[in-house]
Amino acid sequence: MAELRCPVCDTPFESSESKALPFCSERCRRIDLGRWLDEGYGLPYEPEQQPPAEPDDD
Ligand SMILES: [Zn+2]
Repeated sequence: MAELRCPVCDTPFESSESKALPFCSERCRRIDLGRWLDEGYGLPYEPEQQPPAEPDDD
């Protein structure tokens, strides 16, 4: 049995008790994933130039 410390919530837990290693729970795993995604989206946002929709007059 190994005791780990969750990198998200800093809670000590048994590795055998978690199904979302190295996190203590699936919830913390998602939180960590969300942080990574936030960093990716944290870059300056440049909106793509959308061509104006052409009027479709049949
Ligand atoms: Zn946790």
